[in-house]
Amino acid sequence: ETKKEEQKTYVVGMSADFAPFEYREGGEIVGFDVDLAKEIEKQAGIKLEIQDIAFAGLLPALQTGKIDAIISGMSVTEERKKAVNFSKAYFNVSQVIIVKKDDTSITSGEDLPGKNVGVPLGTTSDTLAEGIEGINLTKYNKAYEAILALNTSKIDAIILDYQQAVNFVGQNPELKILPKELAKEEYAIAISKENTELLEKINGALDNIIGSEFYQELLEKYIVENE
Ligand code: GLN
Repeated sequence: ETKKEEQKTYVVGMSADFAPFEYREGGEIVGFDVDLAKEIEKQAGIKLEIQDIAFAGLLPALQTGKIDAIISGMSVTEERKKAVNFSKAYFNVSQVIIVKKDDTSITSGEDLPGKNVGVPLGTTSDTLAEGIEGINLTKYNKAYEAILALNTSKIDAIILDYQQAVNFVGQNPELKILPKELAKEEYAIAISKENTELLEKINGALDNIIGSEFYQELLEKYIVENE
């Protein structure tokens, strides 16, 4: 009798404050990325253990070996690619601007110089805003703190990932998303450069998942408004 091979366990970091991709519901972490992680477990025959880590702490945690992968709506960038490997992309997204509904002074990114703009710390929204000259930038640990600041007119605009923006604006009817996007990005899973075995397993699983019926159901379950 042969012993069943023990499944390898990997620790996945995600910042559970990024609905609809990862958020808490009754204390439990749920969302698009959680379901995706569960399907990867099945397809790749591995075990994934989720750890909730603030977004700005995810890459450092991966690089110091505290976690094995990041599944957290993380956008692929050239800068991040220097530090980690990315899997195949599993979702397309864009960077958008949120303003108050009655604000007519900001209609696109060109109107942002001279304005008070909020971004979540360490995100691609943060990097993008840093690149626009003349912005008065405030970085928030949590995206909802930026929403709070906009609602109370402490800032004029927020730059955010589109799906997250849709989620917040749905809960804050006095806010709107500007139709003109600032940038296009792709979400992928980050894995440490040394762990090519895990990268291959995850890419193999993603090959089966993307475009599948399961993936379609995932979109229908979590993505309210596709671009
Ligand atoms: N996609 C953005 C980034 O990679 C934001 C991700 C997030 O806040 N979870 O920086």
